[in-house]
Amino acid sequence: MNFSADIGTVKGVGKVRADGFRSLGVRTVGELLRFYPRAYEDWSCVLPIDRCPIGENVCIKGTLLYPLKNERVHGGMLIAKGSVTDGESIITLTFFNNKYITSMLKSGEEYLFYGKITLGRYAAREMLSPMFVPAKQSKAILPIYRQNPKITTRQIRSAIETVLSDKTEIPEILPPYILERFSLVTLDTAIRQIHFPESASAIQSARDRLIFDELFILQLSLMRLKSANSAVKTDNIVKFDCTDEFFGLLPFEPTNAQKKAVKAAVSDMKSGKQMNRLLQGDVGSGKTAAAAALVYVCAKNGMQSALMAPTEVLAVQHFETFTKLFASAGINCALLTGSVKPSEKKRIKERIKNGETDLVIGTHALIQNDVEFSRLGLVITDEQHRFGVKQRTGLCSKGKNPHVYVMSATPIPRTLALIVFGDLDVSVLDELPPGRQKTVTYAISSKKRKGMFDYIKTYLDKGFQGYIVCPLVEESDAAAGVQNVEEYYEKVKNTVFKGYSVGLLHGKMTPKKKDEIMADFKSGKIQLLITTVVIEVGVDVPNAVIMAVENAERFGLSQLHQLRGRVGRGTQTSTCILVTDSTGEDTLKRMNIMCSTTDGFKIADEDLRLRGPGDFFGTRQHGLPQLRIADLMTDSKILAETREIAEEITEKDPDFIRDEHIKIGRQVKKKINSLQTPAAANTI
Ligand code: ADP
Ligand code: MG
Repeated sequence: MNFSADIGTVKGVGKVRADGFRSLGVRTVGELLRFYPRAYEDWSCVLPIDRCPIGENVCIKGTLLYPLKNERVHGGMLIAKGSVTDGESIITLTFFNNKYITSMLKSGEEYLFYGKITLGRYAAREMLSPMFVPAKQSKAILPIYRQNPKITTRQIRSAIETVLSDKTEIPEILPPYILERFSLVTLDTAIRQIHFPESASAIQSARDRLIFDELFILQLSLMRLKSANSAVKTDNIVKFDCTDEFFGLLPFEPTNAQKKAVKAAVSDMKSGKQMNRLLQGDVGSGKTAAAAALVYVCAKNGMQSALMAPTEVLAVQHFETFTKLFASAGINCALLTGSVKPSEKKRIKERIKNGETDLVIGTHALIQNDVEFSRLGLVITDEQHRFGVKQRTGLCSKGKNPHVYVMSATPIPRTLALIVFGDLDVSVLDELPPGRQKTVTYAISSKKRKGMFDYIKTYLDKGFQGYIVCPLVEESDAAAGVQNVEEYYEKVKNTVFKGYSVGLLHGKMTPKKKDEIMADFKSGKIQLLITTVVIEVGVDVPNAVIMAVENAERFGLSQLHQLRGRVGRGTQTSTCILVTDSTGEDTLKRMNIMCSTTDGFKIADEDLRLRGPGDFFGTRQHGLPQLRIADLMTDSKILAETREIAEEITEKDPDFIRDEHIKIGRQVKKKINSLQTPAAANTI
């Protein structure tokens, strides 16, 4: 078996089929064998007709009672119905548009039928278009593959069958001591059994082995990346630690967690090696101050810093915070956003290039695309929990091995953090600034909206500010009673909140307009801000103490938690009101969790449980590596086992020099390539 051979070399795979395989990402024989079934047809377990569960695929054995007859119904469709008995009960089979079916199935003969059981008229059991074979020809468990219009499950099955008809043993990757310790079947058994299993239990042990491989190689790769990261030398060295001087600039006493995090990062930057550190902290834990400390220390050591924010609103806010904080310290900050005029932008860029500017703040795109630095020593990304290894490595190109500091507000459950951020060192801000009050959260139905408005007004009357968040709407949503932010604003501004100063902020406004609105909200000129998720991340206005979220069912748990994090940022008790008329089980669960806890880690755990890892991190950009067979949620036991053994090997034989680890080393190398370049080969 030549695993690197092109898929077109497999007997029976012509040009068209080879293209079909490529469209599934299968380019070589090795990739074909790693194209695992998504499900199975179990022809080995024959059920009595009257014990078949409704709605599931089952296999039955029975005799056709009388010849099938094709009938044409209106619309021109051909329908053939037949009755089959297993000696105890009778079931009706229906076939559509199959001219040959009448000659394929013979009356009085016994067959195996495989298909989904449905309930027909008078609750009689039926099978629609089942697959069938003569009963004598007993069939095993057959694989079902992810197919597409270019290639079918049958064609995939037959190509794999052809490759596996070569009985040469598939070379083992894992040494005997690992196979033994974790009771794993050999790779040869696993690959053969995952495609053509002898029994249900054989599928299980094949899966266990392949999941083990996948998570094991992944974790080894991440550990290897981490040690490679921490071995990168840099000239950006902090020689003079002035964090205490910086703490003196803060209008508050830093928390112990902040001090500890800053200390860890400064010690990284002193080491002569590049820092690669993640700062995790729940909303409101004060990550900005920690970042500012690093910027300060770098500036005082002659290095420039870049701070990248996910939204312009947040970039502007950071710019204001840092300018104020650094005013007396002689540190120059610059802001690059879409609303900066071209001529001004040119001047800003010159100052960055000649080193006059110590800190540049902007959105990711702006800083990455068109800025040259004189001596970039530190790159900070705020709220970028959605970026993976690949994206992060791209950030450093603006300097010579600048230090990397990633700040994430989404508390990620530990198991997942090890995968997503497995290549970084981690600091956690596990302490909120003193005096914070819990935000009280209620869920109400829209019937109580009027009372809610009155309640909001009592806060505005006392001089506090508030938010009302509406979901992003598409036109098709309008009919479903979803609140459109603009209409909502127009309505409340002139009715319930007449006499109050109400502002509107949403993502489609020009950057300049957004800046103005945010500035007015910060200064208190706007009392109530009607807005969308543009304020989801980072926005910090401590005088805002009340928030209402319309159509709360439209938001995920972590998102609601982020939104709620916009209030409760001062010492005043804050309130969050979630408005929803949805009575779906899932919505109720989410509302209950929101009302019962403000602990970000608990919420993240629940969110993950409700949504699964893919959705948890948002769509494509989630930074989670693609997994073929493992599931980070359900395979947590194997995840832990592989972590344990990966740590052992990283400790004992980090370069995979020992004979028994050489093949593992090769796999790890391939995996690292594919983590850094998305389309790299993933061969056996
Ligand atoms: P996040 O971690 O969500 O980014 P921020 O950095 O925006 O949080 O901080 C939230 C608020 O807490 C800000 O208003 C900030 O000034 C304040 N803050 C941060 N650290 C402290 C502290 N040690 N003591 C008091 N207030 C603090
Ligand atoms: Mg923040």
